[in-house]
Amino acid sequence: MNNPRVVVVGSGFGGLETAFYLRHRLGKRADITVVSENDYFLFKPNTIYIPFGKKPESFYHPVAHAFEKRHIDFKQTRANNVDPKSKALITDDGEVPYDYLVLATGATMRPNDIPGLADNAATIWNPDEMMKVRAGVERIEKEARAGKKQRVLYLAPPGNKCSGPLYEMVFMLDSHLRREKLREKVDITWASFEHTYIQAFGKRLHAHVIDEFAKRSITGHLEWPIDKVEPGKAVFKNGETLEFDLLISFPPYAAAQVFEGLERDDRGFLTTNHDTRQLAGQEDIYAVGDAGDFPVKQAFLALLQADAVGEHISQRVLHEEPTAKFDPVSMCIMEQFNKATFAQVPLRVTGNAEYPVEVRQESLDMYKVGSGKIWRVGKKMLGAAMPHAFHVGKPFHAGPTWKMMEAGLVVMEAAFAE
Ligand SMILES: Cc1cc2nc3c(=O)[nH]c(=O)nc-3n(C[C@H](O)[C@H](O)[C@H](O)COP(=O)(O)OP(=O)(O)OC[C@H]3O[C@@H](n4cnc5c(N)ncnc54)[C@H](O)[C@@H]3O)c2cc1C
Repeated sequence: MNNPRVVVVGSGFGGLETAFYLRHRLGKRADITVVSENDYFLFKPNTIYIPFGKKPESFYHPVAHAFEKRHIDFKQTRANNVDPKSKALITDDGEVPYDYLVLATGATMRPNDIPGLADNAATIWNPDEMMKVRAGVERIEKEARAGKKQRVLYLAPPGNKCSGPLYEMVFMLDSHLRREKLREKVDITWASFEHTYIQAFGKRLHAHVIDEFAKRSITGHLEWPIDKVEPGKAVFKNGETLEFDLLISFPPYAAAQVFEGLERDDRGFLTTNHDTRQLAGQEDIYAVGDAGDFPVKQAFLALLQADAVGEHISQRVLHEEPTAKFDPVSMCIMEQFNKATFAQVPLRVTGNAEYPVEVRQESLDMYKVGSGKIWRVGKKMLGAAMPHAFHVGKPFHAGPTWKMMEAGLVVMEAAFAE
């Protein structure tokens, strides 16, 4: 009997975790192929340090060696579509047949959805754009040093599905300017379409941000959806305007690859079964991470989805009852330079477009928030351990490194989170 062929598309968090999970769980009992347009893994969460001096190169990790080590076939090419009838992935270099297909192609940014945003804002998404944020921060510092008052505006527009990094960056800029003794020369303002701060993460994070904004003299505006951006001026749908010398924004999201033949929403995100991540009407095709329709886009959630999908496919390959399920308990550590904030949040999808997720009331014991210098150590450890696991061809969240970190986390949560 031939081995089942599992094809995974994407070499980001979701794609790598799925491929390495499958190899780890199934050994030689499956032929695994990864198709990705890039031959590296980009550790996006730590690109927030680029505006403050870190080199972009340090966040790109080559993947070819790990694939070789784990006997995973790697095809560097772009996937364009899927033919579910003939069970083939269609790429720039021909068709790749599959028995099981995992789409983990991630998301992209659509700054042009908001008139003027692309031309007038420094946006955050990839290292190149982070370098433009760095140029903006350096310009602000230079002007402030010359004694000129500066205004920095942070903007989270409707359609953004992961506002956390923008919150990290507003706190980081505040701490950075204080360290440089320039804070008094710079006004920092925050404007978001959200109803509460870091809306997806519930009331406790909202209260934390209110407190931090007050301590740091950051002016915050909620329920201010942006209408358009002009040079030096943001115009909001409620008629308000804010002037700025530097605008930093995390633009609206869309799927990185639109798979025409598959069911998806108006932004191209693939319609999935919440628990199994199988696509609507396509039991052999799965979506993992930002590519799917889970309303919050996060690396940690991509890993959880990847583990669930890796296990679900393994159970099917091994003719076991497929019981694996995705349980959305989000986790993040938000950098602030002078400290970091940890959050673990059990989520529930609501079906309400205004509040697409909420904290799961029946799992409130898992809802933890902690803040302090010690959490920066956790952030540093994650930044080293995750790329290392992928470098040696192991799943991160389902692998031995996370087991150790999880044990440490239990202690940290008990001592430093509530
Ligand atoms: C600045 C920033 C900070 C962040 N911080 C955090 C954080 O602290 N914590 C957290 O949990 N999340 C964070 N996120 C979100 C996180 O990075 C994403 O949710 C995560 O990258 C999603 O993983 P993914 O595998 O779905 O997609 P990606 O990591 O984007 O990977 C997609 C892969 O698919 C490939 N690909 C795309 N299209 C094609 C195609 N057509 N054919 C072939 N290959 C293709 C890409 O090259 C890439 O390899 C942050 C994001 C940003 C931008």
